[in-house]
Amino acid sequence: MPNFDYEAPTTLKNALKFLSEQGEIRPLAGGTDIIDQLKSNRRNADLVVDLKRVPELLALELTDTQLRIGSAVSCTEVHKLTAENGCFPALSEASELIGSIHIQNRASIGGNVCNAAPSADTIPALLVHEAIAHTTSTEGERRIPLIDFFAGPGQTVLQKGEILKELVLPTSSPNAASAYLRFIPRNEMDIAVAGVGSLLEVDPVSGVVKKARIALASVAPTPVRAYAAEQFLEGALIDNSSIGKASDLAVDAAVPITDVRGSAEYRKELVKVLTKRTLNICLERLA
Ligand SMILES: Cc1cc2nc3c(=O)[nH]c(=O)nc-3n(C[C@H](O)[C@H](O)[C@H](O)COP(=O)(O)OP(=O)(O)OC[C@H]3O[C@@H](n4cnc5c(N)ncnc54)[C@H](O)[C@@H]3O)c2cc1C
Repeated sequence: MPNFDYEAPTTLKNALKFLSEQGEIRPLAGGTDIIDQLKSNRRNADLVVDLKRVPELLALELTDTQLRIGSAVSCTEVHKLTAENGCFPALSEASELIGSIHIQNRASIGGNVCNAAPSADTIPALLVHEAIAHTTSTEGERRIPLIDFFAGPGQTVLQKGEILKELVLPTSSPNAASAYLRFIPRNEMDIAVAGVGSLLEVDPVSGVVKKARIALASVAPTPVRAYAAEQFLEGALIDNSSIGKASDLAVDAAVPITDVRGSAEYRKELVKVLTKRTLNICLERLA
C-alpha cells in the first residue's frame, strides 16, 4: 500500500482542521471501502483522517419526529436501533445485508453514502425515507437533500475539507411502510445487480396512496428516484393493477449499463420485479 499519514482526532474541530490541510486528505469511517481503494491505487491520500473517535459523528438518536445518524455510526447499530423500534424498515433491512456481520460492525451508513457507489444498498432506503445530508467544514454547515448529494459514480457534491456530519430522516406517518430488496447472484457478499427501495403511505379508509417513494440502485451512474412511478401512484387506489403499472413506470428511471454482472435489459427487468415486490411488501406491512 502507498504510504500516507494517519490522524485519529477526538474532536470535530480538530478533524475539520486536518481535513482542511493542503494535499489529498481522505476521511475514514469504517475503512471497508477506502482501505481497499488505497491499496489498489484507485484512490490516493497524503493523509487519512479517522473519524471514528469524533463524538458528534457517532451520535445515533431516534425521537418521535426524526432519526439522526452520525456519519460514522455502523450499519450494525443502525440495524439494531431500527429493528428494535420497528421503524424505517427499508433502512433496517439494507443495513443488515451489507457484506457480512464483520463488515456491518465496521462499515458506516455515512461511508456507504460518501463512497457514492451506484450499487450502495443503504442509499435507496435513505432516499425513500427522504434523508437530508448535514455537512460540515471549517467554512460552515450545509443541508443537502440526499438525492442532490451524488455527482457521479464514486463522486459527491462535498467540497474539499467538507464532510458528511449526519443523516437526518423524518419519522414516517403511521400509515406508511417501506421495504428494500436487491438482486445478487449469490446469497451474500456481492454487489447488487439492481436494488429497489419503496415507501408507501396509504389512507387506511379509502385505500388511496397519499405518498409513494421509489428509489433505484445499480441502474444509473448515481442512485435515482423513479418519479414517474411515484406520481402515478399518488392519488391512485392501491391494488394489483396500480402496482403493476407503477412497476412498469419505474423502469423509465433506469439507464443501466451492461457489465459482467448483468445486461442493461436484465437490470431493467429486475427493476420491474423488485419494484412490484417491494410495493407488495409495503402493503403487507400496512395490513
Ligand atoms: C467484503 C465487503 C462486502 C461489502 N458488501 C457491501 C454490500 O453488500 N453493499 C454495499 O452497499 N456495500 C458493500 N461493501 C462496501 C462498504 O462496506 C460500504 O460501502 C460501507 O458502508 C462503507 O462504509 P465505511 O464506513 O467502511 O466507509 P469508508 O471506507 O471509511 O469510507 C468510504 C468513502 O467515504 C468517505 N467518507 C467516509 N466517511 C465520510 C464522511 N463523514 N464525510 C465525507 N466522506 C466520508 C471516505 O473517504 C471514502 O471515500 C462491502 C465491502 C466489503 C469489503
